[in-house]
Amino acid sequence: MNAHASVQASDLVPAMRQRQWAQKTRDVVLCRRVIDETHDVKTFVLTSAADRMFCFSAGQYVLVHLRINDTAVTRCYSVSSPPTRPLDLQITVKRTPGGLVSNWLHDHLRPGSEMEIEGPLGSFNLDELPSQKPVFLSGGSGVTPIMSMLRALTDRADDREVRFIHSAKAPGDIIFRSELDALAARFPNVQVALVCSQGDPAWTGSTGRIDGRMLLSLVPDLHTRTVFACGPEGYMKTARACLDAIGFPPEQYHEESFGGSNGTRSELASAIPSSVRFARSGVEHHCTPGETVLEAARKCGIYIPTACQQGVCGTCRITKLSGEVAMEDLGGLTPEEKSAGYVLACCSRPQGTVLLDI
Ligand SMILES: Cc1cc2nc3c(=O)[nH]c(=O)nc-3n(C[C@H](O)[C@H](O)[C@H](O)COP(=O)(O)OP(=O)(O)OC[C@H]3O[C@@H](n4cnc5c(N)ncnc54)[C@H](O)[C@@H]3O)c2cc1C
Repeated sequence: MNAHASVQASDLVPAMRQRQWAQKTRDVVLCRRVIDETHDVKTFVLTSAADRMFCFSAGQYVLVHLRINDTAVTRCYSVSSPPTRPLDLQITVKRTPGGLVSNWLHDHLRPGSEMEIEGPLGSFNLDELPSQKPVFLSGGSGVTPIMSMLRALTDRADDREVRFIHSAKAPGDIIFRSELDALAARFPNVQVALVCSQGDPAWTGSTGRIDGRMLLSLVPDLHTRTVFACGPEGYMKTARACLDAIGFPPEQYHEESFGGSNGTRSELASAIPSSVRFARSGVEHHCTPGETVLEAARKCGIYIPTACQQGVCGTCRITKLSGEVAMEDLGGLTPEEKSAGYVLACCSRPQGTVLLDI
C-alpha cells in the first residue's frame, strides 16, 4: 500500500491531532491575514492559539467576543471557510454604518491580533439539513455561510446539482465574485447567477430584485429542490414573499437571518402599560414603551447572559412563569423550548404584567 495514500491534515500537524474544536468551544484565536473582499467587506483568517483544528458544519456561525471601550460585546459571524480546510477559520465581515463591532473589526483587527471566539453554533448547515438538490439564495453578506457550503461541496468534488442565486446592490458589492465565477467554470454541476439591484452599464447579468418569475427562470425545477436562504432581514422578507407567491413548499425552505431590520420600538410597543417582575430577584420594573426584558433587567441591575442580542443564539433564554410577551426571535428557541415556557430576553417585550423566573 502506498504510505502516502491517506494523508490527513491531522497527520501533517501532529500536535493538533488531540485538540479539536468541539461544540461551543470558547477559544483564543490569532488573526493571520486580512483580505479586502470589496470596498466595505473584509475576510479575517484566524487560527487557534491552542493549535486546535476547527471542526464545524458548513453553514454554522461563531460568536466573536470583544471588549470595546471597556464593555464586553458579542456578535455572530458565519464561518465563510469550509470545514474541509480545518487549519484556519475565516469570517467575512461587512461594515454596518454606525455599527460597533463590524467597524471595530475592520479598523483594529490586524495580523497578530488576538480575540476570543466561541462556536460552532447554528443548525443552518448541510449536515443537519441534508439536501441532494440545494438552491442557495443569498443577499449581501448573507453569502458567507453559503460560501462555506459551496467550498465544502466543491472541495469534495460532490456531484450534486447546485444552484446559487446571489444578490448584491452593485457589481462592486459582489463578495467572492472571482471565486464564484471560477467555481462555476470548474464544476459543471454548480450554476451561479449574480443579480444586482442597481443597474450599471458594465453589468451584463440579471438586474433588479429577486421575484418568483426570476427564480423560476433561473431554476426551472425550483419546486423539486430545497432552498437555503441567508441575508439581512429585509432580503429574507423578499425571499420568503416571492417563494410564497409561487407556492413553494415551506417544508423545503431553510433560512438564516442576519437580523438588522426588526420592527421599530413604536411598532413593537405594547398598547397597554407593561411591567416585569423578576421572581427570584424580588424586583418589579415598569417598562417604557417597546422596552425588552433584557433592557428592563439591566436597568434593575439583574444580569442575564447575552450574546447575539438578535434572538438567534439562545444565550439569554429564561423561563416565563406567567403573562405575555411579544417575542421577535430569529429562531433562537426550538418549538419545544417555546412550549416549555422559555423566552429570549433580548427580543421579548412584555405585554401587560409578566413574571419571570430570574
Ligand atoms: C447567525 C448570524 C450570522 C451572521 N453572520 C454575519 C457575517 O458572516 N458577516 C457579516 O458581516 N454579518 C453577519 N451577521 C451580522 C452581525 O452579527 C452583526 O449584526 C453586524 O456585523 C452588525 O454589528 P455591529 O456591531 O457592527 O452593529 P451594531 O452596533 O449592532 O448596530 C447595528 C445597527 O443598529 C444601529 N444602532 C446601534 N446602536 C443604536 C442605537 N443606540 N440607536 C439606534 N440605532 C443604533 C447601527 O447604526 C447599525 O445600523 C450575522 C448575524 C447573525 C445573527
